Amino acid sequence: MEVKLYNTMSRATEVFDPIEAGQAGIYTCGPTVYHHAHIGNMRAYVAADVLVRTLRLSGLNVKHVMNITDVGHLTSDEDEGDDKMEVGAAREGITAWDIAERYTVSFFEQSEKLNIKRPNIVCRATDHIAQQITMIEQLEEKGFAYKTDEAVYFDTTKIDDYGKLARLDLEGLRGGERVDLGAKHSKTDFALWKFSRGEKRQMEWDSPWGVGFPGWHIECSAMSAHYLGDQFDIHTGGIDHIPVHHTNEICQSECATGKAPFAKYWLHSEFLRLLDDIKMSKSSGDFLTVFELENRGYDPLAFRLLCLKAHYRTAMKFSWDVLDGAATQYRRMRLAVTALLDQGDADAVADTAADEATARYDTLIRSALYDDLATPVALTHLQAAIGDDTLSAAQKLSLVKTFDGVFGLSLMEPFVEESGSDAGEDVQAMLEARQQARKDKDWAEADRLREAIAAAGYVIVDTPDGPKLEAAKA
Ligand code: AMP
Ligand code: ZN
Repeated sequence: MEVKLYNTMSRATEVFDPIEAGQAGIYTCGPTVYHHAHIGNMRAYVAADVLVRTLRLSGLNVKHVMNITDVGHLTSDEDEGDDKMEVGAAREGITAWDIAERYTVSFFEQSEKLNIKRPNIVCRATDHIAQQITMIEQLEEKGFAYKTDEAVYFDTTKIDDYGKLARLDLEGLRGGERVDLGAKHSKTDFALWKFSRGEKRQMEWDSPWGVGFPGWHIECSAMSAHYLGDQFDIHTGGIDHIPVHHTNEICQSECATGKAPFAKYWLHSEFLRLLDDIKMSKSSGDFLTVFELENRGYDPLAFRLLCLKAHYRTAMKFSWDVLDGAATQYRRMRLAVTALLDQGDADAVADTAADEATARYDTLIRSALYDDLATPVALTHLQAAIGDDTLSAAQKLSLVKTFDGVFGLSLMEPFVEESGSDAGEDVQAMLEARQQARKDKDWAEADRLREAIAAAGYVIVDTPDGPKLEAAKA
């Protein structure tokens, strides 16, 4: 069965045809580690994880590379503002290097809680300064770079197809060129190497052009070439990267190597958007993390399920109610599979495709996943299989085992239900007050009560008989 993927470059769903048969090289733009990743960021990494797991299910040998942006990403995605790492250092009173370490650890902790597999190669920008300098030298030799007092810039007017990924309106973009160009020759030019220029930075290096630090885009061009070659199969990231970061990666890489396309398929995940006036901005420090979901009594994998219930190319809505729904669904799935584990022998049916009774479901689920990673459809089919009385427990378990390899929901681990609620009357009263607040559409009060209930150590679980309280897991 072929895997089809939507390629942002062609704006079409294409059959995935790897450069080298049987292999897939994937590069994912990693987190900027100046603060905790928020649940929106984590959605992007769940999407990349589902891609990797699906390609592995299809039999490909996947090499997944992800960078850690620990220098050079300015507070604007373009060339303005301060380096986010130095901003983090000033905020917390520790060095930029310690900030990078702290939030790299935090990122992988959150990833692990979400069952996101660690990429085969995780590479830090600060460990690859030499490769970045070499690529800038190649661009300079080929006449694609110029130097000003501020920086070494990429000259985007030297290429005909700048902005092809985003289909940028260059005339419109460059229209206002006479104003506000700063040191650049053209509005779309971008920094390859920025000079420290007197200010003492914590992260700076010598270079043939002067002391400074690399631009954000060059790190991904240099590291992807270093680990995957000048041309590779798939590049992933969030949709916000299309107009600037990925656009600039493409022109740097294709001009430096003289080979195109740099990446054969471009996959972009849509954003997570917050409802109910929940705010989320990494730069303001006011945002939701997986840690916070746990503090409120949610299993992180309920959030992973929520991500899977939305297709990666649709905006995902997040509210506490939506998460409650996913948490309830997740609990039911775990209970259903645990009941099967109690009856059946998980190892009895090894190959779902070889067994006629399960083959139908295998095909349905697989086809959905191979159709541009349609996880919502695939999940529905798996749930139908679990509820299908014509299948034995062992047959159902064989399907769960195979496809949880992609869903990553730990479904095959026996689930022990927390002992029933022994919440005191005051917490029960808060639950009732919250029901009333919701009826009155007083969302702020409903939220406040949820937090108070969480603070008392309970989570609200939706059941067919209405909301119930359960003790939060430690
Ligand atoms: P950053 O740490 O800012 O470099 O972003 C890490 C990843 O998260 C990138 O792939 C972004 O495109 C993605 N991203 C940022 N905000 C959101 C959001 N609200 N929802 C989904 N993905 C996001
Ligand atoms: Zn990148």
